[in-house]
Amino acid sequence: MEKTKKTFRERKNTTQFQLTLRFIGLLVSAVLVLSLAIMGITIAELYESTKEQTVLVEESLKSDQKKTANDWQKTLAGSVPKENSPYLIRVGLESGEVIFSSDDAAELYDEFPTLKQFILFDRVLWTSEIEPYYYTSFQTGQTKVTILVDMEDQFEVIERIFSVTIFLTIIVIGIGSLVTYRFSRKISGALVAMDQEISQLESSSAEQELTVPKTPLEVQNIAKSFNVLLVKQRASLKREQQFVTDASHELRTPLAAIRGHVNLIKRRGKNHPKVIPTSLEYIDKESKRMEILVEQLLTLGRLENQMETEVIDLSLLIQQTINELKVMMPQSLIVQIEEKIVIKGCSEHFYQMTRNLLENAVKYTDDTGKISVKLFTKGQHIYLMIEDSGIGISNEEKSKVFERFYRVDRSRSSEIPGTGIGLAIVKELVELYQGDIVVTDARPTGTCFTLTFAATSL
Ligand code: ADP
Repeated sequence: MEKTKKTFRERKNTTQFQLTLRFIGLLVSAVLVLSLAIMGITIAELYESTKEQTVLVEESLKSDQKKTANDWQKTLAGSVPKENSPYLIRVGLESGEVIFSSDDAAELYDEFPTLKQFILFDRVLWTSEIEPYYYTSFQTGQTKVTILVDMEDQFEVIERIFSVTIFLTIIVIGIGSLVTYRFSRKISGALVAMDQEISQLESSSAEQELTVPKTPLEVQNIAKSFNVLLVKQRASLKREQQFVTDASHELRTPLAAIRGHVNLIKRRGKNHPKVIPTSLEYIDKESKRMEILVEQLLTLGRLENQMETEVIDLSLLIQQTINELKVMMPQSLIVQIEEKIVIKGCSEHFYQMTRNLLENAVKYTDDTGKISVKLFTKGQHIYLMIEDSGIGISNEEKSKVFERFYRVDRSRSSEIPGTGIGLAIVKELVELYQGDIVVTDARPTGTCFTLTFAATSL
């Protein structure tokens, strides 16, 4: 019992039910207003025409002086048809004597004091059998003429209109509710189907998408947007999972190495103290690598939240970064920085990009090599180029170096310290500013990273 009650309450709140209910309400009101208007106009018209005809009869009776009953009978015989006439006329003298009465009038005139008045039209009277009559009377000389006009025919017309109206209202409500119910089911049906699909999506592991309905357009748009969101959400989830796996994997290797050396010291340190300095050095190196890795992972995680924008003097910032790193750059350095280049953003981000690229240039270039840094504007763009004469990156590796944890030729890289995250950070930062990063070969050897940003209009 409780369950059906709840279901009905739920159904009552559905779009389909609400739409149907409102539409039927509207339909019934429209039909009723229309019917009432037609009936009102018809009643008024019939009343007016009866009144006009009665006035004509009245005028013709008033027109000449009639004294005797004979005169009246003659006149009335001429102006009012005897058979089936709706006019019931009675002529009486002041003395109370009736000198003329239409054929069927006597009975009705006897009933006269009991007739009731119609509220809206006070000249319409009702008999106890609910027969309507139009009533008028006038005085001419010594005589009082009373006219009652039988309005049964007119009321039959109104009755017929009333029945037709009721019939039409029922038909309209019947068909209307059916059509509305089906129509609204079409609209809400798409939403209901979408709701069911979404519930299924939650439990299914497959990369399913929502079916996009052709109509209604709003639901179609929702389905499309939902699918776009779904794809983005899944991609981001995948990236997160990949990241966690990669990160734990990357941290596991140095940790295992550290533990290995700790065990070695424990086991052999006492008897062979010579292994201690080597192991300590290894532990120091690996723990430093881990420190950098964790620092970089945190940087990656923080990127999107760190968006305090300000106008940065990029020329100055890059010069300062070079100055800071200069001491650990044995290579010869060429710097060409156009002055007063500004950009809107977070200075920490641009510092990170420059530093990571410069550190790589230093790491992957011989001490006798050279490194050049150029900053300039061209058209609507700002260009930052960091070029070295180092070992270079092969064409197959060029797209991969931006992936997280990717390092070219692990055996060779193991000699050069690194985590494989530096370029991933640079790329994410560049994209944060809708910029572009390209890696090309330098001549005769080496690598060139070119970063492009839209020039800031101040
Ligand atoms: P890493 O910490 O290993 O330097 P990066 O993400 O900065 O990580 O770089 C990814 C890989 O790209 C590096 O391991 C290296 O093989 C290659 N690479 C990056 N910069 C250069 C460069 N200037 N010259 C040659 N190889 C480079």
